[in-house]
Amino acid sequence: MTAVTLKNVSKVFPGDTLAVDSLSMDVNHGEFLVLLGPSGCGKSTVLRMVAGLETPSDGDILLDGQYANDLPPRERNAAMIFQTFALYPHMSVGDNIGFPLKLGKKNGAHSVPEAVGDMAGALGISDLIDRKPNQLSGGQQQRVAMGRALVRRPKLFLMDEPLSNLDIGLRAELRTEISSLVRRHDATTLYVTHDQTEALTMADRVAVLRKGVLQDVGTPDEVYERPATMYVAAFLGTPRMNLLEARVNVFLDRYVALDFGDQELRLPWHDLRGRAVARYHGENIVVGMRAEALAPVAEGQPGQSIQGRVRFYEHHGHETLVFLDIGATAIIPDGIGDKPDLARSGSKPRRRLTGLFSGFGQPSTERREVDTGPIRKSADLVFRLPPHIPIATGQPITTAVHMDALHYFDKFGKRIDV
Ligand code: ATP
Repeated sequence: MTAVTLKNVSKVFPGDTLAVDSLSMDVNHGEFLVLLGPSGCGKSTVLRMVAGLETPSDGDILLDGQYANDLPPRERNAAMIFQTFALYPHMSVGDNIGFPLKLGKKNGAHSVPEAVGDMAGALGISDLIDRKPNQLSGGQQQRVAMGRALVRRPKLFLMDEPLSNLDIGLRAELRTEISSLVRRHDATTLYVTHDQTEALTMADRVAVLRKGVLQDVGTPDEVYERPATMYVAAFLGTPRMNLLEARVNVFLDRYVALDFGDQELRLPWHDLRGRAVARYHGENIVVGMRAEALAPVAEGQPGQSIQGRVRFYEHHGHETLVFLDIGATAIIPDGIGDKPDLARSGSKPRRRLTGLFSGFGQPSTERREVDTGPIRKSADLVFRLPPHIPIATGQPITTAVHMDALHYFDKFGKRIDV
């Protein structure tokens, strides 16, 4: 039995907004599951339906195996934590934390002051216990809100971007605290965020949503190492995965060429990857390369490599990100959000292509995962350099490509399994 089960759950808001589209997903007992996606993808709506604050338009929600679509929120044994921490302003920190217990909710063997003291200790706010909320910083207020939710020991935590109002340092600190606290309480957590770092560091499993559609679900390693769609590949990881359009040309019994226009990479024919990609002979696919799959080498070195000229670079202290113009076609899936490299390189997204990539032939009738969005020519291929290595705009560079670390996606943006 799972703690939360969603079976083909949809939510349509007035005005025909399809916020959640036939979502099926389980959250196991004791699991910390993060719902990840950009603003407006339907994350909060999912959470609110599990909390009982919204009713599904279609599909079933089960809590502990019991049908729960119509169960009132207070009967769900769930605690919700929002990004704005609505504390009672006239009450002290201690009274805020103890309030749910005083309402007569479960408290086990603990007395209220004891439970409040333990909770404040666990959250590192024991010395603030007599203060009022307006005498606290944002981070301290959020700790109190956490304490108030945790003190009841609910079976299920529903958290909606609880850290997004905090500064970066506090966020990092509270990330670890939240995940260790809820694990200590043996609670199940459904946690909503648009922040991939939170997702990858806190989650047992991550579910990636896009426009109300579940794209992928798996452990942080699984979704990062084997993203199910191009969208997930681009959403997870900094810098964003390089996604390049390539034509597949098979040279039977010899190799499979990934043709980027002016240059190509070759997969050995006898390699499993070569065989999988060979099925797309004569078609365009998208090849994904994370920055870590690339390393500069001296020109003329044996092995697979790509050449380009430095268009620009960014010093980040511990590393320099180098953007090479390699004269290929880069894909940026729609909905990925910020595109700092586009702005910097001066090129603009040419248009929004819905239904097909340029050069991919007939528009598809398949609705999901197809909407790939802006495409631009003259790709920048981003890779990392250690700091202090001299680099100049316009400099020619050859990067070795770690062929085993490449990802392949078909024209619908779906992973090509190898
Ligand atoms: P954010 O991170 O910005 O909170 P989200 O991923 O949580 O975004 P939702 O709040 O679930 O997204 O919204 C999903 C879609 O449903 C959006 O298009 C939103 O405008 C719409 N929506 C949400 N609530 C309502 C409502 N009460 N009435 C109409 N439309 C709504």
